[in-house]
Amino acid sequence: MPFYDLRCPKCGKEYNISASMADKAEKRIPCPDCGSLDLQTVYKAAPGVLKGSQKAPECPNRHICGAGCHHAG
Ligand SMILES: [Zn+2]
Repeated sequence: MPFYDLRCPKCGKEYNISASMADKAEKRIPCPDCGSLDLQTVYKAAPGVLKGSQKAPECPNRHICGAGCHHAG
């Protein structure tokens, strides 16, 4: 079964929950903490993608430097 990142509005916590696609689609996944079925999907940005206001200076040669680039951040 796939894993989903879900946030409970009541608890304010995020959970990584394994559930069937049908359960996800029909909101049958209960919060592990309070049992609420009103969990919301958390869409996480792909690695390396930053939100506009938090954009860090990026090395123009990052594709060459890779993860060891000292210019990032
Ligand atoms: Zn909850």
